[in-house]
Amino acid sequence: MPGKVHVIDHPLVQHKLSLMRAKDTSTSTFRNLLREISVLLAYEVCRDLPTTKVEIETPLATMHAPMLDGKKIVIISVLRAGNGILDGMLQILPSARVGHVGLYRDPKTLVAVEYYYKVPDNMGERDVIVVDPMLATGNSSVAAIDRIKESGPRSIKFVCLLTCPEGIRVFHEHHPDVPIYTASIDERLNEKSYIVPGLGDAGDRLFGTK
Ligand code: URA
Repeated sequence: MPGKVHVIDHPLVQHKLSLMRAKDTSTSTFRNLLREISVLLAYEVCRDLPTTKVEIETPLATMHAPMLDGKKIVIISVLRAGNGILDGMLQILPSARVGHVGLYRDPKTLVAVEYYYKVPDNMGERDVIVVDPMLATGNSSVAAIDRIKESGPRSIKFVCLLTCPEGIRVFHEHHPDVPIYTASIDERLNEKSYIVPGLGDAGDRLFGTK
């Protein structure tokens, strides 16, 4: 059974995404737009988060008011471009815990090799949001989720800015239980595994490395 894909087609998200796609958009503008879009994506991703009623005093009365347990949420950034989404999400989830997964692709075997992994303790009590701007071949995202699942989190969601049919298929072949949240499903992957029309290399555009 295929997994769920949520396309966030809100006009604000789509407008900012179009600005990010344009090749002449500067590094600083690209970075700011990614942060802004990530706040809007976080809003959708958090729609079904559980709340608990906590007693508070308003100036007029005592009430039991719904609150999130921010410490139960872990945002895990797939390095390096995931850090661009992480920054924006932390603006509206300031108490979230943070983890990082670093993977590179072995040029000979094309297998994802882990070079960094750090997540908070007590993952069994936590709801994880994995962030990586581009779900392209799906190989690194699948490897990241494989590794995160070893820690036994309560739930996992995956957030990307862009994806394509090939990436979704590979991702959900391995992890049909993990919903994908994205701003766009683009047309295809090209022969170099770039998403087309896409936005180029998200890491390079975010950090100005090319
Ligand atoms: N990673 C990127 O940064 N861009 C793509 O188009 C595909 C993978």
